[in-house]
Amino acid sequence: MRHRVQVAETGQSFEVGADETILAAALAAGIPLAHDCQLGGCGTCRVKLLDGRVSYAEFPMALTPEEESAGYTLACQAQPQSDLVIEPARAQENVPEPMRCTAVVTAVSDLSPLVTGLTLGIPDLSAIDYRPGQYMNIVLPDGATRSFSMASKPDGNRVDFHIRRIAGGGFTETRLPRLQAGDTLDVELPLGSFYFRAQDYRPLLMVATGTGLAPIKAMLESLMDDPDCPPVSLYWGTRTQTDLYLHDEIPGWGERLYDFNYVPVLSRAEAGWNDRAGYVQNAVTADFADLSEHAIYLCGSPEMISAAKSAFIGRGASLDFIYTEGFTAQQAQPVAA
Ligand SMILES: Cc1cc2nc3c(=O)[nH]c(=O)nc-3n(C[C@H](O)[C@H](O)[C@H](O)COP(=O)(O)OP(=O)(O)OC[C@H]3O[C@@H](n4cnc5c(N)ncnc54)[C@H](O)[C@@H]3O)c2cc1C
Repeated sequence: MRHRVQVAETGQSFEVGADETILAAALAAGIPLAHDCQLGGCGTCRVKLLDGRVSYAEFPMALTPEEESAGYTLACQAQPQSDLVIEPARAQENVPEPMRCTAVVTAVSDLSPLVTGLTLGIPDLSAIDYRPGQYMNIVLPDGATRSFSMASKPDGNRVDFHIRRIAGGGFTETRLPRLQAGDTLDVELPLGSFYFRAQDYRPLLMVATGTGLAPIKAMLESLMDDPDCPPVSLYWGTRTQTDLYLHDEIPGWGERLYDFNYVPVLSRAEAGWNDRAGYVQNAVTADFADLSEHAIYLCGSPEMISAAKSAFIGRGASLDFIYTEGFTAQQAQPVAA
């Protein structure tokens, strides 16, 4: 059975077929709802259901029970069970248009046993235009894509990445270790709606796991020496101390940020670690009784993001000021959007 979906803000409407998702039908109708992973893992396609009912083949990882109770759904996973009226949760602001181009590898380095630092240049551009926090797709020869977040603020035509090696990974285990300066990659950038919202004017709580630090670093670099920089708390969760690949550098960021607090948290701390241990989101809730005034940026494992959102909402955090980027695996991702 087909159902009609109306977008409240714009009045646009489109039909969704049986077993089709809201997002798939919207994109097929030429209606550009914001989305990233299309696997229910990133939360970018969150919309509010003003009217109607939906169901899921599998309940999406990036939708918390609190969000569902507040009337939200994820358009990439939701199948309408009636006609719907939806409101995109967050209007996409003026972000640069993505473009496809050839990038040249300018440097490759080991940041830790599992994390590679990759610097790319785009010789055809004098400056790469993106919002700190956004990501790039590497387009593989078969047309599939792999996403990696920009780890440096916009600065000329070079950009850094932090890439974790995934066992069996088509790109990170097979191609990345062989990359050398001068090699080229097909890329598409900038992408995504995880970027710093200066207009919030709220203290910042930034929580990352692993290479989820990359887009947070780009955001924090863009705030350095900014007189409007709000107070920043950065909680970074990794498994072991070896995984804290920028641990020595991060405290120095505080010299150029207003009121910066850095808390590393190890989930599998070894003997000799005398700092915080456990899950990173639990360290936050142990330190903050009230998160109602914060703007919160969460990046890295979808499991952390899901648990953190629920826990932080329990501390009064507002869904309107929680921004997330789940590092979902991409092998199963549809090639075309
Ligand atoms: C918006 C976005 C931004 C991202 N930014 C970064 C980044 O800055 N740095 C970074 O290191 N990663 C990042 N990722 C994650 C990265 O894109 C994936 O890990 C990617 O699939 C790796 O490609 P691959 O070809 O090596 O592995 P694939 O060939 O895609 O996967 C190989 C196997 O590993 C599994 N797998 C892949 N990735 C993961 C994962 N993250 N966790 C658990 N299992 C996995 C797959 O399911 C598959 O079984 C980002 C993801 C998204 C969606």
